[in-house]
Amino acid sequence: MSLPVLTYRCTSCSFMRLGSITWGRGYYLAGESRLPMSSAAGWCHSCDDLRAIEVLPSADAEVKLQDELADLQSRLRVMDTSPPPRKRWWQFKTPKDSARPFLESQLEAAKARLSDYQRLRQALAARNTHPRCLNCGAEDCLRFPPYEVDYFDTAAPPVRIGFSHPGCGGELTAACEGTRLAMNLTGQAYDLEGERLPEYSA
Ligand SMILES: [Zn+2]
Ligand SMILES: [Zn+2]
Repeated sequence: MSLPVLTYRCTSCSFMRLGSITWGRGYYLAGESRLPMSSAAGWCHSCDDLRAIEVLPSADAEVKLQDELADLQSRLRVMDTSPPPRKRWWQFKTPKDSARPFLESQLEAAKARLSDYQRLRQALAARNTHPRCLNCGAEDCLRFPPYEVDYFDTAAPPVRIGFSHPGCGGELTAACEGTRLAMNLTGQAYDLEGERLPEYSA
C-alpha cells in the first residue's frame, strides 16, 4: 500500500524532509495487551530534526469520542421515533431499513473506539514522563501545531505550519508534492513510559 507523503521545507534554508520519517505503528506493551500509540510530526531538539513525536491520550480527546457516540445514539433515537417512510410498491426495503444497520455499525465502532481509548488512558494514568521523540526517546521535543495540507492538489502552494526552524529562524512549510511511499506495517513496542523495547521490535 502506498500513501501520499508530505514534504517539509524551510522558508529560509535548504532544509527538506519527507514526512514518512514520522510514520510508524508503535504500541504500548501493558502486560499481555498491546495498546496503540499515537504519534504526530514534530521537532526533537535532541535529534535537532523532524521526528515522530508521541501523542499521549487526553481528557479532551476522550470527550470528543463521547460526543461522537452520543451523537450517533441520538440519531438512532430520532430514526426510531420518526414515522416510517411510506413504502412504494417497487421498494423491497424502505430507506430506514438500510440506514439503521449502517448507523448501528457506526455506533458499535464508536463504542469500541471509546472503550479502547479509556483503556489506554487508564494504562497511562500513572505516566510521569512527557511525550517522547520516538527516534531517540528524549522528552525535549514538541508536536507541530495543527495545519492542513491538500493531499489531492499537488500544485497547491506549501502551507506554513507555524513552527520556526530552530537555529535558523525560517518557517517550516508542508506540501504534498505527489510523492508516494509504501508504508512499513511492522510495529515497535514501547513501555508505558514511552521507552522503546528493542526485544519486541519485529
Ligand atoms: Zn531553515
Ligand atoms: Zn529525538
